[in-house]
Amino acid sequence: MKKLIAGNWKMNGSLAANQTLVQAMLDGLQGVEPMAEMVLCAPSPYLAQLQALLAGSPIAWGSQDVSAQESGAFTGEISAMMLKDFACRYAIVGHSERRQYHAETDATVAAKAQRALAAGVTPIVCVGETLTERESGQTEAVVKRQLAAVIHAVTHCTSEIVVAYEPVWAIGTGKTATPEMAQAVHAVLRKQIAAATQHPERVKILYGGSMNAANAASLLAQPDIDGGLIGGASLKAADFLQIVASA
Ligand code: PGA
Repeated sequence: MKKLIAGNWKMNGSLAANQTLVQAMLDGLQGVEPMAEMVLCAPSPYLAQLQALLAGSPIAWGSQDVSAQESGAFTGEISAMMLKDFACRYAIVGHSERRQYHAETDATVAAKAQRALAAGVTPIVCVGETLTERESGQTEAVVKRQLAAVIHAVTHCTSEIVVAYEPVWAIGTGKTATPEMAQAVHAVLRKQIAAATQHPERVKILYGGSMNAANAASLLAQPDIDGGLIGGASLKAADFLQIVASA
């Protein structure tokens, strides 16, 4: 199975900057058989731009969030059907920055994953422990609880989600989990998925948190790391392509 390298631009970019970045990525992929599947998750106003730039290319596009509601009086929200209208293949749900700054609970994240799936958009479900939780030995319990909420909500669609393990202390900090630390958590998640679906092999488990061109190969070499969710390094074409080449 090909690995999946997902870029999470977060709240960065502009029409001009995106055009330059995406063009550099597409130029770098010219004549190359990509080693991995790729997706760029942009701020929602730029999804139409990504659709125009990336349609027909090997790079898919996606959003960084989706509403837990279907439609209606939810000012500021963006529905899964709207994402589908712009041919988004993926939507990140439950990123730790959403859990932390927007008080998203496990139940909200599960509802978002459900909405995405119902619209035909693949949710990239983020789970991960804080530093305090790791230091108090709760890592396994936390990620299992976060994933269980989603598995419970999506039931027979579990094999259609993507999971991203993102230790919160590693995000944007330059502190990466060692390949062994990441693999240990991925193995736990793999087991949990295997107990919930007949097709666990279809579920990709990505690692995220300061993954970059230098450390990607050793992380991606782990047996249960099926790709990466890349923040900072996805804003540089050469770094992103280097990660793709390491897959
Ligand atoms: P980072 O972000 O690669 O900049 O650590 C990853 C993420 O938050 O998805």
